Amino acid sequence: MTRRFKIAAIAGDGIGKEVLPEGLKVLAAAAERFNLHLDFAHFPWASCDWYMQHGEMMPPDWKEQLSGMDAIYFGAVGWPALVPDHVSLWGSLLKFRREFDQYINLRPVRLFEGVPCPLAGRKPGDIDFFVVRENTEGEYTNLGGVMFPGTEREMVIQESVFTRHGTDRVLRYAFELANARRRRHLTVATKSNGIAISMPWWDGRADAIHADYPQVTVDKQHIDILTARFVLQPDRFDVVVASNLFGDILSDLGPACTGTIGLAPSGNLNPDRTFPSLFEPVHGSAPDIAGQGIANPIAMIWSGAMMLAFLAAGPNPDPRCGEAHDAIVAAIEEVLRTGPRTGDLGGTATTVEVGDAIAARVRG
Ligand code: ATP
Ligand code: MG
Repeated sequence: MTRRFKIAAIAGDGIGKEVLPEGLKVLAAAAERFNLHLDFAHFPWASCDWYMQHGEMMPPDWKEQLSGMDAIYFGAVGWPALVPDHVSLWGSLLKFRREFDQYINLRPVRLFEGVPCPLAGRKPGDIDFFVVRENTEGEYTNLGGVMFPGTEREMVIQESVFTRHGTDRVLRYAFELANARRRRHLTVATKSNGIAISMPWWDGRADAIHADYPQVTVDKQHIDILTARFVLQPDRFDVVVASNLFGDILSDLGPACTGTIGLAPSGNLNPDRTFPSLFEPVHGSAPDIAGQGIANPIAMIWSGAMMLAFLAAGPNPDPRCGEAHDAIVAAIEEVLRTGPRTGDLGGTATTVEVGDAIAARVRG
């Protein structure tokens, strides 16, 4: 029996409004070809336009409205000319991540044929790995404060919080992912030489979970040398797992090494499926190019493919979702090889032209 998937579509701001329709177009093409039932519900909020009308980013019952969804397909949020970024971000996306317990931020890092690589001499195949970032705790807390403000004795403290529950679940997810891949290699980001309490503890939790995955090889690397190796030796990575702060840095550096941010997708995952997971491009709302129809829609489209892969792996999986994922990625590969290309890739095509080209190839 075919399952119906209910998906919330939220465009947000700026180029989110331009790339989301292309993602929906490609998903519709995949649904048609693979006979999937994707029911989309569109929401105008989680945007700065909504904020200007209502004084808040989302209606008070946003959680009820979204809780029954299988996934959220999200464009981009933020329009700093109208609303400060910390207000728009904390009022929408960061609420989803925390309240829907999307504790994994998953970002594939992959160099495609036809995309100029900023790292000299790298070929497609040299760079193909995942960054798994802890998404709900760690260094990003509001615990702390300023003492003796305005005096010579002024000091500020900001705490990090690592729970065993929160740490073990992200490590376990990363081991599972590594274990399912050919190379079965996991890099654990750390800084246990400098951050002398939490990071040695984090390393210890990695050792403890490793005991359940003896087939996976592990190396722990300090974040400083790890960032250097992203640039100098990207071929040595398979799956990389990191705390919230380190993962934030690595998951921007990774896509930067593979050409353009206009390609990079992400999943904010709740692997326990107690709440919907959210799929979005890594890039923001790009006010500098918004409204011109020239944004690269591929990060949005690839995020849609990741969403299907996630749905395909759930309970009562529908294998056709997995096939649809593969067809969308194949169509992206082909269009990156042959064109059309948007400006960030040196081309002159519009957002809609690239979306049309990928949708046509998905249709077969
Ligand atoms: P964030 O909102 O994530 O904090 P930001 O607002 O600084 O980040 P973006 O909105 O991602 O950054 O834009 C950064 C740069 O990348 C801009 O110059 C923007 O035009 C460009 N860019 C972002 N996304 C795309 C895209 N899909 N296609 C082409 N260029 C893009
Ligand atoms: Mg922004």
